[in-house]
Amino acid sequence: MHSHHSDGTDAPADVVAAAHRHGVRTLALTDHDTTTGWDEAASAAAALGMALLPGIELSARHGWHSVHVLGYLFDPAHDAIRTMTDRIRDARFGRVRTMADRIARDYDVTWEDIVAQTTDGATVGRPHIADALVARGIVADRGQAFARILHPGSPYYIEHYAPEPVDAVGAIVAAGGVPVIAHPAARDGLLPARVVDDLLDAGLAGFELGHRENLPGPTERLRRLCVRRDLIITGSSDYHGTGKHNLPGENTTAPEMVARIVERATGSAPLPPG
Ligand code: AMP
Ligand code: ZN
Repeated sequence: MHSHHSDGTDAPADVVAAAHRHGVRTLALTDHDTTTGWDEAASAAAALGMALLPGIELSARHGWHSVHVLGYLFDPAHDAIRTMTDRIRDARFGRVRTMADRIARDYDVTWEDIVAQTTDGATVGRPHIADALVARGIVADRGQAFARILHPGSPYYIEHYAPEPVDAVGAIVAAGGVPVIAHPAARDGLLPARVVDDLLDAGLAGFELGHRENLPGPTERLRRLCVRRDLIITGSSDYHGTGKHNLPGENTTAPEMVARIVERATGSAPLPPG
């Protein structure tokens, strides 16, 4: 789940409360490229008698494949994670700034409008530009902003620095965490088998097969791989507050898979302890 520490619309405590309302009792907070929401989410989870798996979603790329690498239960102070997230977040900032300049040539929206849509210190992304476009009445919602203005084929679009997935996996493993590829069978298509092998050699633990954007055929191919290689299979809502239609608990992870994540991790433990 995502909070306003990245491109979700809710504060971490509200993400936890939303999960609770939907019957979820164990959740993971996986903001893009930041861990700053962990403490607030942990307090909120403790107050509601829930368990929190602190996590992250690292924005990696292999060729034209955008590859989001989820990391669970790592040490957030580890250098490998710090260095990587600092670099990604800096690059994201410059990228949104440049996209904003391009968009401002054609639409009545300013950099200040975009900043107004972010929380201090948040990982910025296209969803914040979308929110500014909505606030200006240029589009109706994030979906329309992505479809019309923010998609990769648009003249306003630019890429940001993103590590190779093998390096993102390596950083999570170095920090004692458990890496899982997010929505691996979505529109970008499956990674080549050779790349998957490299990721597994680097310590990739599994795949998020339960996600609304995964396509059925490729998901089944990956499921066979997971069974053959005894990999961890997860499912998640990828909740973004009002930023996406995804609802807490719409996809879940089997308890035995959560247990495998917890057993494998050495960087941190679920919160509150026990
Ligand atoms: P960025 O990481 O800045 O390139 O923006 C990509 C993020 O935007 C993804 O992680 C999604 O959370 C979000 N996103 C992508 N497409 C849409 C959409 N159609 N509607 C709402 N959010 C979207
Ligand atoms: Zn997001």
